[in-house]
Amino acid sequence: MQKNLSYIEELQQAITDPLQLLAMLKLEPGPKLLTTSDFPFMVPRPFAARMQKGNQNDPLLCQVLPTIAETQKIQDFSQDPLDEKGSNPMPGLLHKYYGRVLLTLTGSCALNCRFCFRRHFPYQCNNFNSTAILDYIASDPTINEVILSGGEPLLLSDQELVSFSTELEKIPHLKYLRIHTRMPIAIPARITTEFVNWLKNSKLQPIVVIHCNHPQEIDAKVKAAMLRLHCAGITLFNQTVLLKGINDAAETLINLSKQLFSMKVLPYYIHLLDKVEGAAHFAIKKDRALALMQEITARLPGFLVPKLVYEKSGEAAKTRIY
Ligand code: SF4
Repeated sequence: MQKNLSYIEELQQAITDPLQLLAMLKLEPGPKLLTTSDFPFMVPRPFAARMQKGNQNDPLLCQVLPTIAETQKIQDFSQDPLDEKGSNPMPGLLHKYYGRVLLTLTGSCALNCRFCFRRHFPYQCNNFNSTAILDYIASDPTINEVILSGGEPLLLSDQELVSFSTELEKIPHLKYLRIHTRMPIAIPARITTEFVNWLKNSKLQPIVVIHCNHPQEIDAKVKAAMLRLHCAGITLFNQTVLLKGINDAAETLINLSKQLFSMKVLPYYIHLLDKVEGAAHFAIKKDRALALMQEITARLPGFLVPKLVYEKSGEAAKTRIY
């Protein structure tokens, strides 16, 4: 029987060479493989284990495999499509929307998704100063929510999360702590007892928003991790990015919503791709996205239909289009 690894062991053993992953999947590299990229290759084994051997169009593989399509320069696709650097008053803190700030406390992810809109973000310059961040939040009483986001916030240890949130809890106008994470999908073992207890006992109301794009990303271990969070009373949502050739089929999206709900996660947003350089080959046209939404709305109860949105730099909120 295979030994259950801790999440730290899983991180240490993540696959960092596309050739190794292709060999595991019994696939040839092929001419479309991109062999060098500034955006590193990183795939934890629990995620890779859900890929189908021998299938070069596997929807999980296609999200992580670098291809030469990334090198195309396409008009309107830029390195910082949401102009986040312009909303970055200090390293590690984004203040784009009223009432909430987003913190990028880590400079990397456990799983590197090729379509990521922050793939060119200068995380390495984060050098975040927690005192400065806490002072910024404390000085603005309109902020009632802190969002921990990507880089992957769950790369911080439970101890680091507890000690940072203990400081956040001292700020009287803060009410909610939201965590945006792909870790339960990448490495479900990251949902440790300590992590669940931290959120359960937080003085801030916790919300966990996972990022899952395809029903095949969900297996028994992912389900068990999410159910542990649900049993601890944590509100759970999912965001999906609409990706060409991966989840742009009504049947796939319907199945995804049902799978999410089976682990008590509500579909929240489905995003049109942010126009980031290197990811244009994943983009779906708005008309196609609207047609998909009509199809899934006709076949699902309303609570399983996510909102179709896109983000535009300078707007006061995400723009809902369905
Ligand atoms: S921030 Fe999210 S989408 Fe981007 S690489 Fe990390 S896990 Fe993937």
